[in-house]
This record gives sequence, structure tokens and C-alpha cells, in this order.
Amino acid sequence: MPKNDATTGNDPVWDVIVVGGGPAGMMAAGRAAERAREERRELSILLLEKNDSLGRKLLITGGGRCNVTNAEFDDHKLLAKLKDGGKFLFSAFSQHNVRKSLAFFNTRGMETKIEEGQRVFPTTDRAQSVWDVMVGYLMATSRGGQPSMVTIGSDSPVVGFIQTTPGHIDAVKLASGDVIHGKNFILATGGKSHPETGSTGEGFAWLAKLGHTVIEPTAALVPITVSDEWVKDLSGIALPNAKITLYLDGVKVAGKKGVKKGKVLFTHFGLSGPAILNMSSEIRELLEYGALVLSLDLLPDHDYATLNAALQKLFTKEDKKKFKNAITGLIPAAFVPIVLERSGIHEDVYCNSVTREERLALVKLLKDLHIHPTGLLGTDKAIITSGGIALEEVDFKTMQSRRVPNLYVIGDMLNIDRPSGGYSLQICWTTGWVAGNSVAGALSLS
Ligand SMILES: Cc1cc2nc3c(=O)[nH]c(=O)nc-3n(C[C@H](O)[C@H](O)[C@H](O)COP(=O)(O)OP(=O)(O)OC[C@H]3O[C@@H](n4cnc5c(N)ncnc54)[C@H](O)[C@@H]3O)c2cc1C
Repeated sequence: MPKNDATTGNDPVWDVIVVGGGPAGMMAAGRAAERAREERRELSILLLEKNDSLGRKLLITGGGRCNVTNAEFDDHKLLAKLKDGGKFLFSAFSQHNVRKSLAFFNTRGMETKIEEGQRVFPTTDRAQSVWDVMVGYLMATSRGGQPSMVTIGSDSPVVGFIQTTPGHIDAVKLASGDVIHGKNFILATGGKSHPETGSTGEGFAWLAKLGHTVIEPTAALVPITVSDEWVKDLSGIALPNAKITLYLDGVKVAGKKGVKKGKVLFTHFGLSGPAILNMSSEIRELLEYGALVLSLDLLPDHDYATLNAALQKLFTKEDKKKFKNAITGLIPAAFVPIVLERSGIHEDVYCNSVTREERLALVKLLKDLHIHPTGLLGTDKAIITSGGIALEEVDFKTMQSRRVPNLYVIGDMLNIDRPSGGYSLQICWTTGWVAGNSVAGALSLS
């Protein structure tokens, strides 16, 4: 329980108040308690969450399977994927990186597997397994059997910080009007994507009020809308390994930003899936400059010549079969009507009657199917928001604010651009662990 403090009469003063019970906040509160247990000390830690339960967004991650991290064990290579933001994170990763995060989950009984793009998932394929580990971590008791040092205050929306002197926070105020005093505060209210999960972005306004620079959060890693009806008709179909190439006014977009490989999902509004999400910022930008075409390569492991040879072989082997049935050996059946319509090959044609010209046209079609992006969905459907606290204003050795020393800022509140692939949650595990570890360390000195 929190200790009474002479400066506030009988009001309890918590050692640490964590605002926001998502993955970053849970890791921070859990690590602060764990460090105190390791050092045989007592800390009072309050985790405030506006919802009636913790980690709502965590439970919908990775389509409910939770891509818990990315199995890139070289910190330099991993952080290079995070554009400019990566360079700030070295000191935090030197304390808690991917290897340590995997060990964290594995030693707590959650086995993991690595999929395409080094994405790590729990072997159960359930985000609930990750949630269970995190809540178990929060509830961990000391060897002597004393209750957990973390008190969870759910249904507790915070409306702001209370300061009596600049550069120091005294308390948080709840929507109920209650004021709760603390010595240290960890801010983990998340970004603004999928606000129905509780991440509505109030924390950014509080940071600005404290004198921090906040880069306006905008939707990032967002599904796209397209004008092609045939794409929407394929809603629910997934291509596990497709390649997309962007063309602006007929000219191939140069460099890595114009090409992505990976999973593409067809939806009732257009396209989603990691390859699309990772290209969404470029698509938004390019749409402002001209006519954008997304060329979809259904079979990127073949070049034009090997695909031509593969089709020749298929048509020879299946010469008595109808073309429309044989082609499902190469592409999903749902694509057959589109291929028939666009290739001009009649649906009753047998494989042995497909002409060379038709086959060459088919090769071109399978490797260069044109789709026309019209825009991006909004923040409510984005995976993350890009923006947040300016990174220069945070000390990444501790996650402490450089303006308000008894404040720590973690997770999606940080202005770090990152691709899809488990990087977002890894940033939460790392920054949450470092904040919890630092605050517990600082309290042992005070
Ligand atoms: C659909 C979807 C799929 C995703 N899949 C993946 C994936 O597979 N892998 C990956 O790495 N990342 C994924 N992400 C991103 C990942 O979920 C986020 O990066 C991560 O949840 C951020 O954690 P956080 O703790 O910083 O914030 P959040 O998870 O947003 O948690 C913030 C918490 O603070 C609470 N809160 C907010 N305001 C207040 C307040 N005023 N008072 C009290 N509490 C408050 C919220 O209710 C919430 O519980 C996905 C995101 C989405 C939307």
C-alpha cells in the first residue's frame, strides 16, 4: 500500500503511478515491482487504466495472434528499420532487446515461433497468451508471499497532471474528480489508432501542457482504398507472398519505397496486409503528385522467363484439362475469373489449345496486374499513429522526460516511425522495461 507522506497530510503518495494499461504500461509497472523484489525492497505502484480491463489493443494485435516481436537479434539491423527514430533507441535496447524480450516470454511459459519476415508469434496463435504473461507479471508476488506491489486501478480515466511547481508533477486527476498523488509518473496512454480500444491520445495534450514538443499524430500503417471493383469482390482472399510495385504517371517509383514484398489481403474497401501497410505512407504521399498505379505480381518467385516455362510445363502435363481448372495449380481459384476476363482466354479452352501469344499475355497479366489506389482509411483503422513526443526531449537511458524529471514516457507516445512486423510491440517491451527499471532504481537512491 502507498505510504502516507507528511507533505500531503493523510493522502497516500504512490511511489510510481503508471497511466495507461497497454503493453508498455504493463511492462513498466511489472518491471518496477520485479526490481524492487530483486532488491528486497517495497514499492507502491499504481497502474491506472480507463477501461474495465487492461490491454484491449494488445488483444487485437496481429489479427488476434499478436506479432509479439521481430526476430532480428542484431540491434543495429533492427533499429535501422525504424528510420530516424532508431538511433535514439540504442541505449534502451542495450538494456532490454529482442533476445531479452523473447527470453521474458519463453521463461514464463509462452512458447514462440518465427514466421515470414522474422515475425514472432506465440505458438498458441493467440494474443491472449501474451496478455496472460503480462498480467501474471503484474500480479507476481514476492517469495515471502506478500501481495503484488502493483495495484491495478481499472475504470479510472485520468484527465490530466497536477503541478504546483514547473518541472515537477505532484498528482494525477481522475475523471471522477479524485486526485492521486505520486512521486513518479510513467505516461503510457498510447497513440490514437483504433480509439475504441481506449487509445484516444489525451496524453499528448498533457505533454504539450508540460512544455514538451508533440508532433501531431497522423495515421500510419493504414489499409488503402482502391477504385477497382474486382479487388473488392475478392474480399477475404490473401496472397501470402506477393510483390507490389508503384508507378506514378506511368513511371516506376525509384528505390525501395516503390517496391514491397509480402502478404497482401483483399478487403471490401481495397487492400491491406503487411506489404500494403508498410507502403501506405508512400501511397498517401504519391497520390498528391499524380496518377498512381499499383502493379501486383502474383508470382514474384518467378521471372517472366521461368513463369513462361512453368506455364508451358503445366499446359503440357494437364493438356486434357480445361485451362481454367489447371491454372489453379499456380494461383488461388478466386483469381480465375479475373484472369479469364483479362487474358481473353475462353473459359472452355483446354490447356493444349492455349496459344503462345495467349500464354505470353498470361505471363504479363500474372506479374503485372494493375490496381488503382484512391486513398487511405483513417486513424480509426490504422495500426499505429506516426507522431508523438519529440525524441530529443526524452533520455533513452531511463525514458525520463528531459523537461520534467519525475515523468517517464514510453510506448506509442514516442515519435518513432516503424514498419509492420512486431517492431511496435518490441518498442513497448523495451521502453516499458527501461522506465520501470529506472524508476525503481531512482527510488532506491532517494
Ligand atoms: C489492429 C492492430 C493490430 C496491431 N498488431 C500489432 C502486431 O501484431 N505487432 C506489433 O508489434 N504491433 C501491433 N500493433 C501496434 C501495437 O498494438 C501498439 O504499438 C501497442 O499497443 C502500443 O502500446 P502502448 O502501451 O504504448 O499503448 P496502447 O496499447 O494504446 O495502450 C494505452 C492504454 O492507455 C489507456 N488510456 C488511454 N488514455 C487513458 C486515460 N486518459 N486514462 C487512463 N488510461 C488511458 C488505454 O485505454 C490503453 O489501454 C497493432 C495495432 C493495431 C491497432
